[in-house]
Amino acid sequence: MASSPEKTATATPRRKVGRHRGEGQWAMGHHTPLNGNEQLKKDDDSLNVRTRIETIYSKRGFDSIDPNDLRGRMRWWGLYTQRKPGIDGGKTGALEPEELEDKFFMMRTRIDGGRLTTAQLRAIGEVSQQYARGSADITDRQNVQMHWVRIEDVPAIWEKLEAVGLSTTEACGDCPRTMIGSPVAGIAADEIIDGTPALEEIHARHIGSKEFSNLPRKFKTAISGSPVQDVVHEINDISFVGVVHPEHGPGFDLWVGGGLSTNPRLAERLGAWVPLDEVPDVWAAVTSLFRDYGYRRLRNRARLKFLVADWGVAKFRQVLEDEFLRRPLLDGPAPEEPVSRWRDHVGVHPQRDGRFYVGFAPRVGRLDGTALTKIAELAEEHGSHRVRTTVEQKMIILDVEQDRVDSLSAGLEALGLQVKPSTFRRGTMACTGIEFCKLAIVDTKGRGASLIEELERRLPDFDEPLTININGCPNACARIQTADIGLKGQLMLDADGNSVEGFQVHLGGALGLDAGFGRKVRGLKVTSEELPDYVERVIGHYLEEREENER
Ligand code: SF4
Repeated sequence: MASSPEKTATATPRRKVGRHRGEGQWAMGHHTPLNGNEQLKKDDDSLNVRTRIETIYSKRGFDSIDPNDLRGRMRWWGLYTQRKPGIDGGKTGALEPEELEDKFFMMRTRIDGGRLTTAQLRAIGEVSQQYARGSADITDRQNVQMHWVRIEDVPAIWEKLEAVGLSTTEACGDCPRTMIGSPVAGIAADEIIDGTPALEEIHARHIGSKEFSNLPRKFKTAISGSPVQDVVHEINDISFVGVVHPEHGPGFDLWVGGGLSTNPRLAERLGAWVPLDEVPDVWAAVTSLFRDYGYRRLRNRARLKFLVADWGVAKFRQVLEDEFLRRPLLDGPAPEEPVSRWRDHVGVHPQRDGRFYVGFAPRVGRLDGTALTKIAELAEEHGSHRVRTTVEQKMIILDVEQDRVDSLSAGLEALGLQVKPSTFRRGTMACTGIEFCKLAIVDTKGRGASLIEELERRLPDFDEPLTININGCPNACARIQTADIGLKGQLMLDADGNSVEGFQVHLGGALGLDAGFGRKVRGLKVTSEELPDYVERVIGHYLEEREENER
């Protein structure tokens, strides 16, 4: 069944904008910065901070960094300060930033489309071992995130990454973040269309360019021509989803305005079909529209989804065509429903060239520098020079001859990376959490890993698709609203009245088939200790009471 605009209708009620107050939109003449973030971006283009890092901060050390660069502009180069170890979740929000932060950085490497050569993967592994105490997590936007980075080492890290064609440019900040792409683009036997040329063209033209380095807020892009729709297109600011036009053939269906966090909202279709070679122009037009009409007065209303909610898709498309593209878009059909619930490509799958790709599952995206290096070696030993990261915090090795698949799978298993993981390992994701994140209230990675282990022990035969997403705070980095079981970290009282780590539960969310947000179960909070019991009970009820084919 095809999806439709009605199916993805907004969860956010339309809101009337006070005409005289304005929302700080540049196109409406509001160029005076209306908050500290806008002022900071106006004072100096955030990309310029690179020069100061190279010439001043890396030489004089952490204490020499201007606070506006430290907690603002450095994000444009993938750098955030990380949480000081040992500060409990109860103090988050109560402490000043300088009390909460360590003198080390989290560094995000930009990996558009999750596309890596083995040489690039090895370089990240070596950077992790040399400069980041071995840390390396796969994020839910196909990046690799490292921790414990010293400002003194940043120029050397850039040199090493850039030597193999990688960068940290605009990996964070109010700019076009890492663009998600189908990790099996160009190779999958069942692909509708390969979006890679468009992804590369957008990167070459616009990433690191000052044209889009001051957007109202972060801007997330996704593109996939896979029939499993493997890029969570429903929750990106702009998405291109593979579809076959009855007259013009394969191309992309254009979606805008998705996002989680405050007022989660599923993206909506503009009803327009875009051929591959026009994707970069249409992307630039939508990004320009966001830059000029996006709301800048309040940070929590500055995502594209609020503009789409207020305008509606008809006006959005009209303004896009009239003012930015200066031509009409072609109408087009909706994509088909995705062909499966798992969209992570874990397991062994045929490529269109007769070889195979092998997807495997680290626990909650956690790897380390040594493991990355070993994965690169293992791939090369089996004739492959290409790997991919996925939005489910998984990885894939491409281009494996059939007679090498078993040996590769065994090699991965020996590294603790399963090609046939349990449902629980496959379906559980966790954000960074209290280990490194300054906003976190609870532990997520460690809790997720122990939950997986415990559920594997208790329910060894359960093998249906199930997603468990764990966030360390009310933000949505691990997409809790879109999981079967979404867990939002908070402190709570246990049975003895002690303040302990726990989670607010959201149930029944999904992307792809039956896309929609999970419902917050009123009053249902579970302590971290009780989590395995709780999930076991939910699965038990589901198995007992489900109707035929109910997911
Ligand atoms: Fe940090 Fe919260 Fe995001 Fe987790 S969800 S990474 S705790 S901001």
